[in-house]
Amino acid sequence: MRATVMYKAHDVRIENVPDPVIKNPTDAIIRVVRACICGSDLWPYNDGPNVSGQQMGHEAIGVVEEVGSDVHKMKPGQVVVMPFAYSDGTCIFCEDRLQTSCLHGGFFGQGAETGGAQAEALRIPQADGTLYPLPVGEDDALMPVPPHACRCDGHRPPRGAGGAGRARP
Ligand SMILES: [Zn+2]
Repeated sequence: MRATVMYKAHDVRIENVPDPVIKNPTDAIIRVVRACICGSDLWPYNDGPNVSGQQMGHEAIGVVEEVGSDVHKMKPGQVVVMPFAYSDGTCIFCEDRLQTSCLHGGFFGQGAETGGAQAEALRIPQADGTLYPLPVGEDDALMPVPPHACRCDGHRPPRGAGGAGRARP
């Protein structure tokens, strides 16, 4: 599949990378239909260190293609939105709506564990806690949904967390 890969400031390439696969029973694979460019993508683009081929992107809308054996809420064919962090949705931090501090969580587009959302597909760890189904079809006019705002209703989304759905071609 194709994905955006950053090498250093002002050096982002579209490259062929391995397709994502289910690694853990709590994983899902989504086919990305819309992805945003976040402020935290632009900071390293402008002046970041060399990152030697880091896949970029977080926050996207996609369609679930495959789920692991321990995913119960998500099903293939669902249109979903994903935030920049993955989380189990069940730990003490998630129950306090601090999903970015999840005991079993992490961040997309950082490090080798997960890919980036600016790609044709993405592995979603902790899919039941991370993904939110949307009541729309894949071809509907998608609404701009700030993903983190979905998780923190009543709070303003953090800076740069409002881009999903805006990267429509
Ligand atoms: Zn958690």
